[in-house]
Amino acid sequence: MPKLKNPLHDKHLLNYISKFLKMCDKCCHYDYINYVNVCCMCKDFYCETCSKEMKYHGYYDETDHNYCITCSKKYFPYYYTNEL
Ligand SMILES: [Zn+2]
Ligand SMILES: [Zn+2]
Repeated sequence: MPKLKNPLHDKHLLNYISKFLKMCDKCCHYDYINYVNVCCMCKDFYCETCSKEMKYHGYYDETDHNYCITCSKKYFPYYYTNEL
């Protein structure tokens, strides 16, 4: 009977899985690549949890523009004038 391999020790499988995973630029956890969770300015990737903090500023054309908090404050400072 062939010995069962631990799938995590299979380099090819790991490479394959890692193609679908990306490290969150905020909390450094891995999550599935979802281009909705990528900041359209700095191209940082955010995991499912951290992407909840992202801002949509997509009203000026048909597409969704997702900004991380940093870029949101940088490019849309007037949204934060109440916080200053
Ligand atoms: Zn995260
Ligand atoms: Zn950004």
